[in-house]
Amino acid sequence: MISIVTPVYNEEDNIVFFYNAVTQVMKNTSYDYELLFVNDGSRDKTEMLINQLAQKDSHVRALTFARNFGHQIAITCGMDMACGDAVITMDGDMQHPPELIPVLLEKWREGFDIVQTVRTATEDAGFIKRMTSSGYYAFINSISKTPIVPGGSDFRLMDKKAIQVFRRFREHSRFIRGIVGGMGFKQTTIEFEAPKRHAGVSKFSMKKMLHFAMDGVITNSTIPLHLAFYIGILAALAGGLLILHVIYCYITGSAVPGWSTMTILISLFGSINLMGLGILGEYVGKILEETRNRPLYWLSNDTAMDKSTPYYKA
Ligand code: UDP
Ligand code: MG
Repeated sequence: MISIVTPVYNEEDNIVFFYNAVTQVMKNTSYDYELLFVNDGSRDKTEMLINQLAQKDSHVRALTFARNFGHQIAITCGMDMACGDAVITMDGDMQHPPELIPVLLEKWREGFDIVQTVRTATEDAGFIKRMTSSGYYAFINSISKTPIVPGGSDFRLMDKKAIQVFRRFREHSRFIRGIVGGMGFKQTTIEFEAPKRHAGVSKFSMKKMLHFAMDGVITNSTIPLHLAFYIGILAALAGGLLILHVIYCYITGSAVPGWSTMTILISLFGSINLMGLGILGEYVGKILEETRNRPLYWLSNDTAMDKSTPYYKA
């Protein structure tokens, strides 16, 4: 049995189209399947539509969050609840082509536990998004201890055993690509070209995207923290040399306290301090978040999370 997990946020114009496409693909395979929609607190007709589908088709399961928790948490919920021997996560806007599902399944049959897809191109991504994306992946891979496939998407297949391990990762700020990349198991990648969205606009605002990018860095590496430390050492060395210079000037009698020097120094060291503090603040923020130990998500209808769901069994 295959589970297909799809987070949906205000996707009323895509749900039925997506459902039809996935159903057609799955009917042509020899597998039984479930299509698990996780409605991430949509404010449009998404909830109604997925409930309708679940009622008329027993392959469909519909879960609705009490509010918007974000794409990564919605995927996590789906992976917690999925009952399949393999779980495929994919977006509900047709940017992750359902025709690729059989290819993922074939790799799984070949013995791979994790089949990661990689976008070679995205039709509706502008030049800036493409450049920032590739720059970001180069950066994060240079500081991350575990590999993160450049252009990697959250369209992937995971075998049940990898899913069971993944369920034990309970951090709140999560960059699933990083977690999965570092999980080990037998992994492979397949490439695809992401088409345009079927309908609607991207649900990732600039703010959400920046948060996501920041989570990727902060949860994967403590190097920024070390960097602040090293810059601090360099600054201290420069300060030391400066003091020597000042002493020299004092001894030779040419010490004229310069206002401009002071201004430069204050702004220089002030900014270095601020930078270090800023980076520290990011980590402290994360520590705070994790120590709160709040539930990762909750449903508007908590009876749907009955004891028979895999997460409770685990
Ligand atoms: N999504 C979600 N919660 C959010 C934002 C997005 O569940 O807060 C879903 C969205 O409905 C879609 C998938 O995540 O199925 C990917 O989002 P989107 O297509 O907007 O991202 P993009 O493809 O532009 O990166
Ligand atoms: Mg999309």
